[in-house]
Amino acid sequence: MSAATTRSRTPDRLCAEAVDLARAAAEEAAAPGVVGEHVSVVSEGDRVVTHFFECKDPAYRGWRWAVTVTRASRAKLVTLDETVLLPGDDALLAPEWVPWSERLRPGDLGPGDLLPTEADDLRLEPGWTGEDAPPPNSVVSEEMAELVEAEDADVADRTVVPVRGSITSVAEELGMRRARVLSRYGLHSAADRWDEGFGAKTPMAQAAPASCVSCGFLVAIGGSLGQAFGVCANEFSPADGRLVSLSYGCGGHSEAAVMPKPPRPAPPVLDSMASDEFLLRPAPDTGSVPVSDLPPSDLGHS
Ligand code: SF4
Repeated sequence: MSAATTRSRTPDRLCAEAVDLARAAAEEAAAPGVVGEHVSVVSEGDRVVTHFFECKDPAYRGWRWAVTVTRASRAKLVTLDETVLLPGDDALLAPEWVPWSERLRPGDLGPGDLLPTEADDLRLEPGWTGEDAPPPNSVVSEEMAELVEAEDADVADRTVVPVRGSITSVAEELGMRRARVLSRYGLHSAADRWDEGFGAKTPMAQAAPASCVSCGFLVAIGGSLGQAFGVCANEFSPADGRLVSLSYGCGGHSEAAVMPKPPRPAPPVLDSMASDEFLLRPAPDTGSVPVSDLPPSDLGHS
């Protein structure tokens, strides 16, 4: 039989009448003047009743003081069980708590903050730590090492044979000695995120005269992401220093616009068919005009 079926729906009469006892308990727990009208009484079970009082504290609008009273079987004395403040149907409640890991947003991480990465983070997968046995055809496998050493022994005129590096040092050299590396999921989610900010579908790319793949300011990156992304190095571009999709583009594309040539004045025109006469020194002031300065009509020329 379930607990619900054992409960009496009709409140115990003596317990229901103990309103003053319940109010005194509520006022003892609350601040003075905070307990309001008696709102309701609810049966919690056999001889167990809860009295609800209005809460007049403005900080707890809609909340109610709940005082539970009870009595023993065949006893007439009603005693206090517990006093608690509970939210009513229209109570003002704080928003549901959300774990910090779900609340975190890009840009929240500040200087000195530490952001732990969970062990089962889907964006990461185990890297090569040096404890794994490489496959036989790997360049760092034991089989390949013996093969290389055998070949080196055959080289008679070689005086100094380079020492073969250990697996760990080779892995370190190649940047492979990390506990975890980006998983396929992590790689795709990063690519999607970058493509959203600096991809072909952005308004800037749609209005660009050409895409980054043909731009001289694009710095290529290695790895599989290098097939789709590069780094913009144009200080006037909105994507300067950012990873851009090869299909992104902006008006700063190196080949998009050609600078207009500076205006050049027309070359001087040389008339070599006629000569002009110039006096070597000023003419003496005789009051007469030099013949050479007279117009042709004064010389009798028509
Ligand atoms: S300048 Fe513009 S087109 Fe060139 S790489 Fe940067 S974003 Fe791409």
